[in-house]
Amino acid sequence: MNIILMGPPGAGKGTQAEKLVSKYGLVQISTGDMFRKEMKEDSKLGVIAKFFIQYGHLVPDDITIDIVRERLSKNDFPNGFILDGFPRTVVQARSLESLCKELGFKIDAIINLDVDFDKLIKRLSGRRVCRECGATYNLEFKPSKKPGICDICGGELYQRIDESEDAVKIRLQTYTRQTRPLIDYYTMKGQLININGDQSMDDVFKDIEKCLGV
Ligand code: ADP
Ligand code: ADP
Ligand code: ZN
Repeated sequence: MNIILMGPPGAGKGTQAEKLVSKYGLVQISTGDMFRKEMKEDSKLGVIAKFFIQYGHLVPDDITIDIVRERLSKNDFPNGFILDGFPRTVVQARSLESLCKELGFKIDAIINLDVDFDKLIKRLSGRRVCRECGATYNLEFKPSKKPGICDICGGELYQRIDESEDAVKIRLQTYTRQTRPLIDYYTMKGQLININGDQSMDDVFKDIEKCLGV
């Protein structure tokens, strides 16, 4: 089962992907996580990605498509994969189609998590991420047991560089301008599954399972 998880920043893509990984053994492919790893390592790609990410802009399509091509080419998904945060533009969606053809993958479901912008801003300002293992918390909705410390690995929790008030505003504009059109693109192809993301994390997951028929 290969899935695309779509939705605006903070809609819960990462949270739901994690649930799909642990229950169904799917492999999560998050372009955001991949870029953050490169930024942490200060690699050449990381430096380029940071230039765009810190201001809330998308990393250019050619760079993003390259890292996804490289990752998918490994072909190590016995139970399937979840694309979390890719594609984010129509150009990326088209590239993914040819990439799937080339590598012999089929996308089985395209899920869109729908959440209002005012709720998103609240979620994003409270999101904290573990510097070591990347686990995601929320000051209000999913607090760690000890403030500032990861429950899983004891690592330090930090706020992402693109989660300042200004960057969040630009990310939401970027979403509206560049990623929203993808919803129409997949809707017209009759492929989009809309899920109400404004429910508890567990209820969103139940809806996803219902739609997937698993
Ligand atoms: P969020 O969880 O807020 O949706 P991600 O962690 O998926 O954000 O991505 C963080 C940032 O990384 C994005 O704001 C964007 O700058 C960059 N990025 C992630 N995925 C893509 C993509 N498919 N195309 C271009 N840029 C991307
Ligand atoms: P995305 O990957 O789409 O940016 P995340 O899964 O990282 O979204 O969630 C964004 C923030 O909102 C995180 O702090 C997360 O703990 C929190 N969150 C996720 N899903 C929900 C939910 N259903 N209700 C409340 N908070 C949520
Ligand atoms: Zn951790």
